[in-house]
Amino acid sequence: MFWLNKEEEQNRKDAAKRIASAKKTIALTGAGISVASNIMPFRGKGGLWEKYDPEEVAEINSFLKNPAKSWAFLKEMQKVVEKARPNPAHISLAKMEELGYLASIITQNVDGLHQEAGNKVVIEFHGNTRRLVCLECRKLYPSEDISLDALPPYCPSCGGLLKPDVVLFGEPIPGAALMQARLEVQQCEVMLIVGTSGLVEPAASLPSAAKRNGAFIVEINPERTVLTATVANIFLQGRAEEILPLLADELSAIKEG
Ligand code: NAD
Ligand code: ZN
Repeated sequence: MFWLNKEEEQNRKDAAKRIASAKKTIALTGAGISVASNIMPFRGKGGLWEKYDPEEVAEINSFLKNPAKSWAFLKEMQKVVEKARPNPAHISLAKMEELGYLASIITQNVDGLHQEAGNKVVIEFHGNTRRLVCLECRKLYPSEDISLDALPPYCPSCGGLLKPDVVLFGEPIPGAALMQARLEVQQCEVMLIVGTSGLVEPAASLPSAAKRNGAFIVEINPERTVLTATVANIFLQGRAEEILPLLADELSAIKEG
């Protein structure tokens, strides 16, 4: 379908022009951007999530009631994340930052792959599985320093229960991340939304807040989402790992003039 490809290409070029002329562009990313790194989203086919109900095992009250059971799931998730490497979508966002076209990333992901790809300004809305936190003394540990042979793990210094430093269902977003994200949302002229269903609050309301402040919204997703009809100015339908490299190439070409 030649004309469809043409339209897609035009949309991508328009998006690149908007990004290149904006004073500030930020990205909001979700589980979809890490699919090509073999980390499956919660809502979708395949992998770990079909064996567990994340809203049960990754919920704070069930975690506190039965930490060993939640940890069985969290340990498997940690193993999946440890093996994962950044894919072309992460790498393209790092390239956009390097070119000066991307100020920051607000991510709902807990896999650390944006930092590994090279992005310097990453706001972790939901924490990171690569760290553990003690629920008693709040000390943080790199996950590789704590053995998960016996579950649940306890704090080596005070004996308190350890939890991955991620936001479980029912827990609040870390205050600093929330404040920083709100500031970025207020300041941005373009918001690039990649691989998020737009269903998990409060991250889901950031796009409409940006839009109310006059930002131009570019969405990348293989499927239409609630955001597509409500806030997106340009919808680039497809996989992040295919579309973002093309968008980064457009931006390189603009930069070279
Ligand atoms: P989600 O699971 O609700 O939605 C994923 C979205 O990604 C869907 O809209 C889907 O169409 C899209 N998608 C699938 N393949 C894609 C691809 N190749 N390229 C681009 N998009 C693609 O994810 P969410 O909105 O981020 O919310 C789920 C919550 O679960 C998040 O808050 C996150 O903290 C957590 N989570 C994190 C990870 C991770 O760290 N990688 C993985 C699973 C879940
Ligand atoms: Zn402790």
